[in-house]
Amino acid sequence: MPSTAIVWLRRDLRVHDHPPLAAALAAHDQVVPAFVLDPALLHGRFASAPRTAFLLDCLRELEAALRERGGGLVVRHGAPERELPALARDAGATAVYWASDATPYALARDRRVREALRRAGVEAIRGPGNFVADVGRARTKGGKPFTVFTPFHHAWSALERRPLLPAPSRLPALPRGLDRGALPSLAQLGLGGGDALAAPAVQAGEAAARDAFAAWLAGDLAAYGDRHDRLAVGSSRLSPHLRFGTLSPREVEERAQRHGGAGAAAFTRQLAWRDFFAHVLLHHPGNRLHEHQQPMRALAWDDDAALLAAWQDGRTGYPLVDAGMRELRASGWMHNRARLVVGSFLTKDLQLDWRAGEAWFMRWLLDGDVAQNNGNWQWIALVGVDPAPAFRRLLNPTLQQRRHDPDGAYVRRWVPELRGVPDERLAEPWRMSEAEQAAAGCVVGRDYPAPVVDHAHERRRALERYRAASAARAT
Ligand SMILES: Cc1cc2nc3c(=O)[nH]c(=O)nc-3n(C[C@H](O)[C@H](O)[C@H](O)COP(=O)(O)OP(=O)(O)OC[C@H]3O[C@@H](n4cnc5c(N)ncnc54)[C@H](O)[C@@H]3O)c2cc1C
Repeated sequence: MPSTAIVWLRRDLRVHDHPPLAAALAAHDQVVPAFVLDPALLHGRFASAPRTAFLLDCLRELEAALRERGGGLVVRHGAPERELPALARDAGATAVYWASDATPYALARDRRVREALRRAGVEAIRGPGNFVADVGRARTKGGKPFTVFTPFHHAWSALERRPLLPAPSRLPALPRGLDRGALPSLAQLGLGGGDALAAPAVQAGEAAARDAFAAWLAGDLAAYGDRHDRLAVGSSRLSPHLRFGTLSPREVEERAQRHGGAGAAAFTRQLAWRDFFAHVLLHHPGNRLHEHQQPMRALAWDDDAALLAAWQDGRTGYPLVDAGMRELRASGWMHNRARLVVGSFLTKDLQLDWRAGEAWFMRWLLDGDVAQNNGNWQWIALVGVDPAPAFRRLLNPTLQQRRHDPDGAYVRRWVPELRGVPDERLAEPWRMSEAEQAAAGCVVGRDYPAPVVDHAHERRRALERYRAASAARAT
């Protein structure tokens, strides 16, 4: 009787450097790679048609890669704690392997799955694969989890790294007669008529991921340290691949380090932010719903549906904010510098709750990831870990545009009505005279909105709100 194991794929949709797959192959004759479409995620708080479409494309490609190697992918639809024991029974599997994750939902789900497998007499074997290092292990000298990035980065850099694993050249065939299931379409999942991206920023699947990474290593990585904040160029766009595991974070780190140089050092430091925010949510699951800093839970937010809609649609009258928001909606991605600017703008210029921004990002981002998105939103809203004085993260959208999009290439790409506006007016189109507006073919208030708020005024209000919350802490 051959021994059989299931490899439960979740957000690690690849064959290269896949520890659970390698471990299962080493210990069993038959291996059944399986993906469970979980309604709680597909239709939950952070449901997203664009991200689900990306997921399905990744799965289609993974299925082909597994078949090419002689194996296949089994697809089930339902609660994993029901589907996996049933699949283990049908396949005659005695063990299920998977890569650990860090979000509260993943941890609770995995506990339910482990318990259901235990009852069915099936072993549950967890391994690494979703992060560069073991995000659960990093500790301060006092033995506590980190809440400040720089010391985390220090400790994280010293954590042990596992060796990279090659992709298996051959896979055992799936057990005879086992129902493979089928990958549904977006419409079959009930998400077909919803949000769609006009021009996705990133192509799905492991092959595209590996090509993009190879091009990044050979090209722009070297200049990353100097150029990562440049809006029109600069960063790797690998985040959706790291989100779905079409690239292994560990492999990305190692190959970047092998490349060497200042660009690679700056880039791997960004990978540490990813592990950091997973570490934070792992140890502070309540952050999912509330501010990490307790006094900031008392911050008063405005409630203005019209301003929120202007922000979501990219109609605030601040060109950089509008460019970022339109990039998000058209492509499912936004440059990190733009994310910071629109995040600061929502929470400090519009005085709106960071959770509205978190939810909007999760609806559209291909890399939308609970730990990363929540951690970054709390960071820019100044309510989370890694605290700083309010003025440090209160970004001026006009100055940010001049600094990080000096030739206007980014803004002109995403806000076409501003294309004719000259460079010196592009960050503040409302300052154009009537004659300048006519010459630029852009009348402010007709072709492009006037600013919905006054930054200088809102800045003072925001500083006052944060000061009041901090003062309440002190008393
Ligand atoms: C408000 C806000 C929300 C965000 N939401 C998400 C999210 O849902 N998912 C997500 O992956 N990133 C999120 N980020 C972080 C960051 O903006 C993206 O990871 C980055 O822009 C992705 O582009 P890139 O792959 O070109 O990054 P690069 O600059 O090339 O960096 C390489 C990798 O490092 C990691 N990284 C870089 N910056 C950060 C960061 N600040 N935090 C965590 N990891 C980082 C990413 O995995 C990224 O792919 C958010 C940032 C902000 C300010």
